[in-house]
Amino acid sequence: MIIFGAWDLHTEGNTSLILSEDWQTSRKGRKQPAYEQSREHIRLIEEEGYKLKTFPMKYSDANKDEEGIGPAKIEGFEPKLTEKSLKRVGGNWYASDDALGNLIPEEIETPEQFIEGASKTVSVNTYERNSEARAKCIEHHGYKCAVCNFDFEVFYGAIGKNYIHVHHIVPLSEIGKEYELNPIEDLIPVCPNCHAIIHRTIPALTVAQLKQHLVENERNT
Ligand SMILES: [Zn+2]
Ligand SMILES: [Zn+2]
Repeated sequence: MIIFGAWDLHTEGNTSLILSEDWQTSRKGRKQPAYEQSREHIRLIEEEGYKLKTFPMKYSDANKDEEGIGPAKIEGFEPKLTEKSLKRVGGNWYASDDALGNLIPEEIETPEQFIEGASKTVSVNTYERNSEARAKCIEHHGYKCAVCNFDFEVFYGAIGKNYIHVHHIVPLSEIGKEYELNPIEDLIPVCPNCHAIIHRTIPALTVAQLKQHLVENERNT
């Protein structure tokens, strides 16, 4: 069995970024010895059939200097191991839940977790509050994908009318009890394709970043 700690800041929903090729050297260009060790652990999972388990760790930047350089510090951790499956996307390795790994975080969450800063006592209204926020977002932004402009009604006709995903710009995991959701600034309509790609990385891409990828890709084809 191989165990990785999953930093809170690299976790969204059930998926955590556990290793990245970007971590090979420090920001000062120094080789990170822990990287090679982690890479070997990944190989054991990928090639030798070792099981992968993770536990949640809380990140602190207490060891960083003013320029943000220095080792990460573990502020705390939960002694709770969860079995995960390993997924590689480009130079990044993710630990995720097998059945849920390909789903978009917002789609995984139960209606209760869609809650916009409300406490449990009003959870009866959670779903309605969420639909209300969704409706306000769409009323302002419309039903077109904010990334690629895809319009379901134009493409599919009447059956596509009023269909769109709504992406949470502020990750649901960061929405605390006190956080007041702004439906116009915190939510954005995107088509399911763009939505899936936005969530291929952790943290998720921004709408502007994915748009930039589209522009660059267009130039290359
Ligand atoms: Zn799109
Ligand atoms: Zn989303």
